[in-house]
Amino acid sequence: MTVPRLRLAHLPTPLWHNSTLDELVGAEVWVKRDDMTAGAAAGNKIRKLEYLLADAQQDGATVLLTCGGIQSNHARATATLGRTLGLRSVLFLRCDDPNAPQRRSGNLMLDELLQAELRLISPEEYRNRQSVMAEAALELASDETPYIIPEGGSNGRGALGYVSAMAEVRAQLDLGLGPGPDGFDAVVSACGSGGTTAGLALGAAREAIAPRVIAMAVCDTSTYFQETIERILGEACALRQELRESADIDVYDAYKGPRYAVPSPEQVDFIREVAAKTGLITDPVYSGKALYGLSQLPADDKPQRVLFIHTGGLPGLLATPELMGFA
Ligand SMILES: *Cc1c(COP(=O)(O)O)cnc(C)c1O
Repeated sequence: MTVPRLRLAHLPTPLWHNSTLDELVGAEVWVKRDDMTAGAAAGNKIRKLEYLLADAQQDGATVLLTCGGIQSNHARATATLGRTLGLRSVLFLRCDDPNAPQRRSGNLMLDELLQAELRLISPEEYRNRQSVMAEAALELASDETPYIIPEGGSNGRGALGYVSAMAEVRAQLDLGLGPGPDGFDAVVSACGSGGTTAGLALGAAREAIAPRVIAMAVCDTSTYFQETIERILGEACALRQELRESADIDVYDAYKGPRYAVPSPEQVDFIREVAAKTGLITDPVYSGKALYGLSQLPADDKPQRVLFIHTGGLPGLLATPELMGFA
């Protein structure tokens, strides 16, 4: 049985190459522009949501529940696509002080525009996000049909979005839109909840895109992500029997900067230099840290020809000028 999928993203996204970027990174970099998957719903989450929301519709869902940080791109994408399908969203957003006023900017402003229901929760509550959402779903179930989407849309079903993305890249390579049919030494992306990496690893093997997938962790540890990604791989393979092989997965946690959503001065300088010299805008939470990490890999570990997944993140960047050193 084929896994249901909705067509929500503007695909295929471009494969973008810029020789100045190659010099800044120290490798041949082909950027998969998944920052262009949509308008307000753009970024990597829409590919996962094509599968997750198809499942929600099959279940007859009327309300979506999901979670993330206060500037969650995933929560914003869910709220946006939910509205296009006639569904409301309840968003559980982590913030240090749930009672303090939060500036409605970036993703949070879009969440408000979409009239998503915002439930701000503390970091402690967020640790139990699964049970917090399960309890809320139970309450809503008296007069609505809730559908819970895990953090980042990262389960086996969501990961199928990045298996499909690798089939899309295969078609682009065969059409001569990339470096050639042989593919890449590695696929590189930011890693925040693991679903993108899991899908990339399965899709890269299946479509002969690359033998190696590099995940640049922006939070947690590489041990945590190895386990998480392993679980998601298992779930995805259970949904689609033909998926068996995975590319090698390397998770690096040395390039996440001071902590989640806080970049180092070196990362900020790199993001600014890439923007000013190439026109490529990356963000200080995910894509900029991942690209910086790639640039910093030691020569004996650095892949020469890279497919870099630009996962989006523009609304968060626009909401946090202070992170970029602007007053
Ligand atoms: C969510 C997100 C990621 C991380 O993807 P995961 O599948 O959660 O690991 C990377 N970049 C951006 C911009 C994101 O919003």
